[in-house]
Amino acid sequence: MDTQVPLIETRKLKKYFKTGKGMLHAVDDIDMQIQKGSTLGVVGESGCGKSTLGRVVLGLINATGGEIYYKGKDTVKYSSREQKSLRKEMQIIFQDPYASLNPRMSVSEIIAEPIRVNHILHGKKEIDQRVKELMETVGIARRLAYAYPHELDGGRRQRVGIARALSVNPEFIVCDEPVSALDVSIQAQILNLMMDFQDDLGLTYMFITHDLSVVKHISDEIMVMYLGQCVERAPSRELFENPRHPYTEALLKAVPIPSLKNRGKPREILKGEVVSPIDPAPGCRFAPRCRYATEQCKAPLEFREVSDRHFVACRLTES
Ligand code: SF4
Repeated sequence: MDTQVPLIETRKLKKYFKTGKGMLHAVDDIDMQIQKGSTLGVVGESGCGKSTLGRVVLGLINATGGEIYYKGKDTVKYSSREQKSLRKEMQIIFQDPYASLNPRMSVSEIIAEPIRVNHILHGKKEIDQRVKELMETVGIARRLAYAYPHELDGGRRQRVGIARALSVNPEFIVCDEPVSALDVSIQAQILNLMMDFQDDLGLTYMFITHDLSVVKHISDEIMVMYLGQCVERAPSRELFENPRHPYTEALLKAVPIPSLKNRGKPREILKGEVVSPIDPAPGCRFAPRCRYATEQCKAPLEFREVSDRHFVACRLTES
């Protein structure tokens, strides 16, 4: 058992949204821990609540219930000074770098802004020097310092987004589908860059994606979400080699395997109706799409440890 205090921990974390039809359960009772210097991959289809979870953890939107601990302390109990420092220590990299960068600011202004706003450096000379260093670190040529986002390609824009996140010396970064909008070859460059930073700076990542193949190599642990709930969590390798939840199995079958043998083979696509996330009934939310579903699956499920650090919420794993 890991006795180290996690950098980030959530307990029974919930985020519900009021709608005309009832409460939408975007995030429901999420328990997770991320150790310092490690990466938790959070995977699930669009609408499963993974991006909302990232924003709640960062404090960008308020939780409906549950607790968030940072370095072992409940963030609700942070003083306003500690809250301010927390905002610097926790950063986000967005999926669409174009939408997240101010189109009226040049590359150097975008990177310098958080340094100024957070009073990390004061003099123009020091700030310019830091911007130069950050551009070099993320691999943006110096000649692009005065370029605007629309003049850059997707990969370079994402590098600017990464430089901006790094400019405040964060400890924890939520990476929300950071490579989904990029070409496959650029994806690999950005992922490698992020892994290098993790090694060099000891960064901790929560890496959100709909694509399991993206998180396979970057994650220490993977959490699979379905309609606001965590259905399976395990060390990355274990999850790929021994998936125990039918939804994880289905996601794995949907991962393209680039080999001659698989060329032309259709990928398995999940069928079946997705239950509404508004006031969902107790029991397994995946049941209408699960080929193993029985009446028993309508009863509330336990998120059980089935082997070392491998947790699953499925009747099939109950003895
Ligand atoms: Fe399928 Fe039942 Fe397991 Fe849900 S609990 S994944 S419906 S077998």
